[in-house]
Amino acid sequence: MEKCEVCGNEYDKAFFVEAAGARHTFDSFECAIQKMAPVCEHCGCKVVGHGVEVGDKFFCCAHCARMATKADVRDRAA
Ligand SMILES: [Zn+2]
Ligand SMILES: [Zn+2]
Repeated sequence: MEKCEVCGNEYDKAFFVEAAGARHTFDSFECAIQKMAPVCEHCGCKVVGHGVEVGDKFFCCAHCARMATKADVRDRAA
């Protein structure tokens, strides 16, 4: 049994996510998103899609990136 590091739930189908050399244990994607997903600099929502990076800032979509940086940003996945 592995224990989710976000909610503490012990679950036999827990999974691992490796990022920046550290291994994280989660029982659900919801918990993984809670812990791993970057937060949009403009609207504050969790970025779970491709997101948009402008410099060192991260946004959920091109609209937010444009609003916050005034840069001509387009959705990368579009
Ligand atoms: Zn959990
Ligand atoms: Zn946003």
